Amino acid sequence: MLTKKAKLLHVLNNIYFKKIEPVSVVHFITNRCNARCSFCFIDFEDPNTFKSELTLSEIDKLTKNLGKSLLNVNLTGGEPFARKEIIDIAKLYIKNTTIQSIYVTTNASLPERVEEFAKSIINFDKNIQLTFQISIDDLPERHDEVRKIQNLFDNCIETYRRLQKIDERVNPIISVTVSHENCENIENIFQYLTVKCKINSLKCTIVRDEGVYKTPNEKKEKIFKAYSWLTNKIKEMSKKKKINNYNLKSIQGKLHNKKDEISWEMVKKMYLNPKYISPCHAGSLFGIISSKGLVYPCEILEDKLLGDLRDNDMDFMKIWKNQTTSNTKKFILNSNCNCTYECALTYNILGNWRYQPHLMSSVFD
Ligand code: SF4
Ligand code: SF4
Repeated sequence: MLTKKAKLLHVLNNIYFKKIEPVSVVHFITNRCNARCSFCFIDFEDPNTFKSELTLSEIDKLTKNLGKSLLNVNLTGGEPFARKEIIDIAKLYIKNTTIQSIYVTTNASLPERVEEFAKSIINFDKNIQLTFQISIDDLPERHDEVRKIQNLFDNCIETYRRLQKIDERVNPIISVTVSHENCENIENIFQYLTVKCKINSLKCTIVRDEGVYKTPNEKKEKIFKAYSWLTNKIKEMSKKKKINNYNLKSIQGKLHNKKDEISWEMVKKMYLNPKYISPCHAGSLFGIISSKGLVYPCEILEDKLLGDLRDNDMDFMKIWKNQTTSNTKKFILNSNCNCTYECALTYNILGNWRYQPHLMSSVFD
């Protein structure tokens, strides 16, 4: 259901025809993080990494200038809960934009803070849907070792349980990123999470080269196999209703589920031999805001800066309509730009007519 502020026809017209306003943005609210994962794209050695975060009053202005089609914001980082103002930031998005959902990516090292956030936000707006992507990549000891935080695995499970108890509007999902670190142990990790920890909400993504992280070439085949195994397993368990990432009785849940399946198949086709499958709508339906207010079409094209919010009076739409963005959108389409970035794939599937029959057929499954 759309919030009262987003007009259905306006949003559909934007998604299928005009493609001039973002439907979802990823906002890196901080680069700070208490973990130090080996595959992290953040350069923690650079002292400038943590400087000049957008202030609350700047975010207030930004959120008043995000168009009338925004349905979702992904608050991420760094570790987004390292920024204590995360509740205020989420409230500004709710107050000033047309969002109906907030997606938060967290390492779940701070269960109390995450729970307080969830309760505070659903009390603030009864229509908002909250999804928490809790990252777990390995068995307990190894997970804590790779992320370099003591008791992190246990805190992840505790965060998951606390969120599960709150309300049906709060949806915690354990997310496994398949990487060179865990690809040889993925079956054990899956068993441990689903059998020992009784996790019944589980997703997976594949590690990608970004920032300072580069996948070791010799590991790619193994990463691909592990990702294929895990996505097939999640699909199988979802059919048996042992994994419930979405409410499959609702149309929205069925569409999300089908979208994930399409996205997994696209990733499998592109990972080992990168190739173009369908147009990417980054820079149109989807965009990135860095902690310092820099706007990009996606996380991968780091050399395609669209504009600096601080140089544009915090007016996101001014940047979204400027010549640089227009040229970048042409570049993305004309170069058949392709990658396995799941966030962008979601909106590419949504905004592409060829996937609509698949999505619609899922409603009648
Ligand atoms: S938890 Fe996330 S942001 Fe923090 S070091 Fe790990 S990958 Fe990077
Ligand atoms: S295909 Fe990937 S790299 Fe290219 S614009 Fe889309 S998200 Fe960015």
